[in-house]
Amino acid sequence: MASQDYITLDRTNDKMPLVGFGCWKIDSATCADTIYQAIKTGYRMIDSAQIYGNEVEVGQGIKRAIDEGIVKREDLFFVTKLWNTYHGKNNVRPAVERQLKDLGLTYFDLYLIHFPVPCEFTPIAEAYPPPGWIKPGKEKFEYERSPIQDTWREIEKLVDDGLARNIGISNFNVQTILDMLTYCRIKPSVLQIEHHPYLQQPRLVDWVKKQGIHIMAYSSFGPISYNEMTATGKNTPTLFDNETIKSIAAKHDKTPGQVLLRWSTQRDIVVIPKSLNAGRMAANLGVFGWSLDEEDLKAIATLNAGLRFNDTMEPAYGIDLPIFD
Ligand code: NAD
Repeated sequence: MASQDYITLDRTNDKMPLVGFGCWKIDSATCADTIYQAIKTGYRMIDSAQIYGNEVEVGQGIKRAIDEGIVKREDLFFVTKLWNTYHGKNNVRPAVERQLKDLGLTYFDLYLIHFPVPCEFTPIAEAYPPPGWIKPGKEKFEYERSPIQDTWREIEKLVDDGLARNIGISNFNVQTILDMLTYCRIKPSVLQIEHHPYLQQPRLVDWVKKQGIHIMAYSSFGPISYNEMTATGKNTPTLFDNETIKSIAAKHDKTPGQVLLRWSTQRDIVVIPKSLNAGRMAANLGVFGWSLDEEDLKAIATLNAGLRFNDTMEPAYGIDLPIFD
């Protein structure tokens, strides 16, 4: 098994691996095998979500790995998220219960609010996996009157009832987090955000870390997972071909992918790369036992372009909602 490093979370002292495996865009047909392979390869953290539409299969992959004695449940750090349509205070618990059932789990290691966006509710009986941003049958996005405070109260109760060991947020900005800090009973442990050399957000990262909240980076490889979805994703040269990243990789005898992941993990930022390819799946765990130097870090800092790929204003999202402004 590849060596793993961890972050120890406050309150629970749980060990959150610095490298996990992301489940977005893994189709149902191959998902159980992929998750089983990821665990066999050495991943101990899985990042899932209701909206990825594959939690039944993610659960099957985990079950197979446990049944074969590769891991025990307590060796895994399982992360998933509440979709936007279930922010209503009476809708959180049924959504969570459906996830636990689909996954075949009794608790989550970390449960996140996926976006600070309360979309109109659609009952599970009418559509599951959940609809996206727009209620089925409607033409445009409308928000529901569910304040984050009500949603967070329900998320805190998941901890009280042993359904989530740790809780956190994703795609929240400083204003939203600051507001949460004024009322939360249990502070978020983790903020999951888009983070790569083209979108570094140093002020957000520094401030959040100062609040004792850990950062988990998604889309660490930048545009690649958005190249079929958005024009920005398609038109931005990949980070794997970036000359700065390539020359740092050559200098350390590593791959560009490993440099991109090391750049985060070296700064205690958790990463959750996704790969369906066995060689890359293994290579993406190879970020321990070596370091980028000051010169490398300075060079990567110059690549920051404020370039966001998971931007809700992209036409592909079909909503007129600049949540990151
Ligand atoms: P990623 O940055 O992990 O990139 C995945 C793509 O890179 C895939 O196309 C894969 O084939 C390719 N790839 C993987 N390893 C490679 C390597 N070593 N060399 C070359 N190519 C390689 O992208 P992602 O899936 O967007 O992000 C990772 C995870 O983050 C997701 O699976 C999901 O779990 C999570 N995520 C969360 C949010 C959110 O809103 N909270 C949004 C996006 C993603």
